[in-house]
Amino acid sequence: MKIFKFGGASVKDAESIKSVSNIIKLYDNDDIMIILSAMGKMTNALEEVVSAYSNSEHDLSDKLNYFINYHLNIIKELFSSDTHQIYKDFEYLINLLRQKLSKSPSSNFDFEYDQIVPYGELVSTLIVNHYINSVGFSCKLYDARDLVKTDNKYREAKLDWDLTIGKVQLQVLPYFLDKENNVHKLALTQGFIGSANYNYSTTLGREGSDYTAAIFGYILNADEVVIWKDVPGILNADPRFFSDVHKVDYLTYSDAIELAYYGASVIHPDTIKPLHNKGIPLYVKNFLSPESSGTEISNKINVNNQDTFYIVKPDQIVLSISPLDFSYIAEKNLIDIFTILESFKIRVNAIQNSAIGLSICINDNPVRVDALIRVLGENYKIKYNENLKIVTIRNYNTEAINKVKTGKKVILEQISRLNYQVIIKED
Ligand code: ASP
Ligand code: MG
Repeated sequence: MKIFKFGGASVKDAESIKSVSNIIKLYDNDDIMIILSAMGKMTNALEEVVSAYSNSEHDLSDKLNYFINYHLNIIKELFSSDTHQIYKDFEYLINLLRQKLSKSPSSNFDFEYDQIVPYGELVSTLIVNHYINSVGFSCKLYDARDLVKTDNKYREAKLDWDLTIGKVQLQVLPYFLDKENNVHKLALTQGFIGSANYNYSTTLGREGSDYTAAIFGYILNADEVVIWKDVPGILNADPRFFSDVHKVDYLTYSDAIELAYYGASVIHPDTIKPLHNKGIPLYVKNFLSPESSGTEISNKINVNNQDTFYIVKPDQIVLSISPLDFSYIAEKNLIDIFTILESFKIRVNAIQNSAIGLSICINDNPVRVDALIRVLGENYKIKYNENLKIVTIRNYNTEAINKVKTGKKVILEQISRLNYQVIIKED
């Protein structure tokens, strides 16, 4: 069986939803579980709804209407009969959302977010499921909140693997195993969302649908997972920052993990591990040209694994931290500093130390960084350097390094066997 994940851009309008069903047609000899994101930029639209709701802003209903009308237009294009069941089902979901928004919000923003933002996925799967069935397939819709169980860390919920495996094996596996009429099975569910205790909705972090696809791939022992995108595959650099970029044919799992970790917006970072653990290949393909090969992420050894990748992470700040009493930076200080970083949920993107100083490069989130500097400042002298970007080159060579740093002010530089990293001033 295969897992197909379609992101927002692949279901952004009626036309692209029709392409989804054409792609499924191409694979009518396979069992397929489809994981779907919210349509187009609808997650962003719902984030606006959440903030209007939480701050009691006057334009809440405008923002909600934008969300509703976006989908209604698509529904009208896809279903010619205005008595089609989709209209009732859509109205039902929207009424649930309205009911939620008519109650006063609690003070827990992340909780409120997770009760509202999943409607993007709930609506998109409803529409696509009805559409696929209306063109002759038999597709079963699952509510991911009945299957994907998480803790209650809202907005970045952690998967409860044991519970989730149990639910999927009990509810989804029998459907695919039932081969009575020898037909190939099709099912659909939402990416990105799950549920915690008491069935409150949770989300797995922005762009989390890739991860959902990996979770289902792992539990259902899929032969492959395909992420359908509006690009030909994974590129070796972001075309916004580099001119001569190319599509990469093969990537190892470790390449993919490192790229995601260093900030390449290829795939959600958690996606690779479950697939790697079971050796399930992941393909990134272009839904506009489904026959093209795309990028394969697997254990396949290939000379093309030597592609040079460039990853740029803007908005960085380097803090240079030294003990106030001019003592050495020793293990005790390091534990102290990293405990503080952990308490602020700050991830360190690069680190370098000397006898009396530790330099760390972190995302420049002004609110968090100010608070961090205040706390660290109680025991350490802090100097900082802002407006930086960190550039990582995977499988570097001299030419690549020169391309990145020539003529730039270098703040910090690091080289290991496969990665070169440099922190430079933004132009
Ligand atoms: N719809 C969610 C987002 O835009 C999840 C996803 O697309 O993966 O972040
Ligand atoms: Mg998305």
